[in-house]
Amino acid sequence: MRMSFLALLLAAPAFAAEPAKRPNIVFIFSDDHAYQAVSAYGHPLKLNATPNIDRLAKGGVRFDRCLVPNSICGPSRASVLTGKYSHANGFYDNTRSRFDGSQVTFPKLLQQVGYQTAVIGKWHLGSDPTGFNHWHILPGQGGYYNPAMIKNGVPARQTGYVTDVITDLSLDWLKNRDVTKPFLLMCQHKAPHREWAPALRHLGHDKDRQYPEPETLFDDYAGRGKAEKGQDMTLEKTFTDLDAKLTHPAGMTAAEKAEWDKYYGPRNAKFRADNPTGKELVRWRYNRYLHDYLGCVKAVDEGVGKVLDYLDQEGLAENTIIVYASDQGFYLGEHGWFDKRWIFEESLRTPCLVRWPGVTKPGSASGAITSNIDFAPTLLEAAGVAVPAEVQGKSFVPLLKGESPKDWRTSFYYHYYEHPGPHSVPKHYGVVTDRFKLVRFYEPEFDSTELFDRKTDPQELKSVHGDPKYAETLLELEAELARLRKQLKVPDPDPPETNLRRPKGK
Ligand code: CA
Repeated sequence: MRMSFLALLLAAPAFAAEPAKRPNIVFIFSDDHAYQAVSAYGHPLKLNATPNIDRLAKGGVRFDRCLVPNSICGPSRASVLTGKYSHANGFYDNTRSRFDGSQVTFPKLLQQVGYQTAVIGKWHLGSDPTGFNHWHILPGQGGYYNPAMIKNGVPARQTGYVTDVITDLSLDWLKNRDVTKPFLLMCQHKAPHREWAPALRHLGHDKDRQYPEPETLFDDYAGRGKAEKGQDMTLEKTFTDLDAKLTHPAGMTAAEKAEWDKYYGPRNAKFRADNPTGKELVRWRYNRYLHDYLGCVKAVDEGVGKVLDYLDQEGLAENTIIVYASDQGFYLGEHGWFDKRWIFEESLRTPCLVRWPGVTKPGSASGAITSNIDFAPTLLEAAGVAVPAEVQGKSFVPLLKGESPKDWRTSFYYHYYEHPGPHSVPKHYGVVTDRFKLVRFYEPEFDSTELFDRKTDPQELKSVHGDPKYAETLLELEAELARLRKQLKVPDPDPPETNLRRPKGK
């Protein structure tokens, strides 16, 4: 016992780090920002440029396979704060869950060792933030223009475009902080969440570009099952007039509406006169969607630039870790979809860039499987704080240093629960490796298992579950899935697998 305690003492960074040298942490988190829309990721369609977010890639590490355990807004935020899966932190889905703020979170642990902590922007966890010296959040999803906000429990409506508001409030907090203490700032954007309403200055930013189309824009879901065929997230069937900006988003002043109409008015009139149908309608919607979505991303990128400039000007950049990530990935027309939720790559993977001067090698990349449950242990280790044993994520500080730990994870567990719910994606869980995905849709009406080989089928178009060539792989993946569920202490059945159905008639 004596030896192991000594070993613990030597190993625990909490005892070794000098509080004065604890790094500052700026965690910039956007909502629904697809890696396909971050130019540092070099997407083949070259949809846009994000020069400021790319500054982090140039100065740090780009994580190429940062996966989320449950691809939807609230659950991702709960996983970030706790370093745990949904079944362990109790936040399963956006429509029925409420975050238990009494549990341990990494901001609380940082606060205990003297960090000043703030969260500004989107929160979306139902309960009030805990573990923050300062919070200034959007209620629920929040609005794009002149948004209602809540400052430390008091309603505080703001004037302006939401991304600029969140950036400016973040900078104000930085300017007024206690400079004798290290800080954690969580700057959490609403953008580019649906309905993708850009800043007025960005209307027409793409000069009416006709965007290159993903190969699967007109996917017919052959090769997959009832789940993929029955979803409700297509540009063809699900896209609303509000999504298409054929009606006004909420919150604008009369003058703002006039400016908005100046851009959309003539284009909407042409659309109505042309009245496209079938594939032409899908193409029109795809281009409108990308104009709006990428316009939202533009303001996020500018906001990141402002924060980076401030850190440079104040001489803070050298001792500040900056993380840029989104709460999940997103479909930009792949499979004909927008939205997220699936275990499939575009929604499973989130962009993740980390710059830590003196630690990260500028311009490097890591293909290791990381996750948003790793953020809490990583930032705690970086701050010299011991990571609680119940945290399920793993610190990727070694990856930041360019090391390749031999025991790093090679498989990942996933579980999505929000069904029945928006976009009609059935509940599913599965296991993901570098090459394969085994997916189980377990609700009685969708009862099926699918297997995807990303090496031969990178777009995940054909389940090879019944193919005898994959019989051995299937057994291995089934065993790995069972091992992960056991290791992660997933209850069997996981309670929401059985009791999250809405009562009849509601
Ligand atoms: Ca989201």
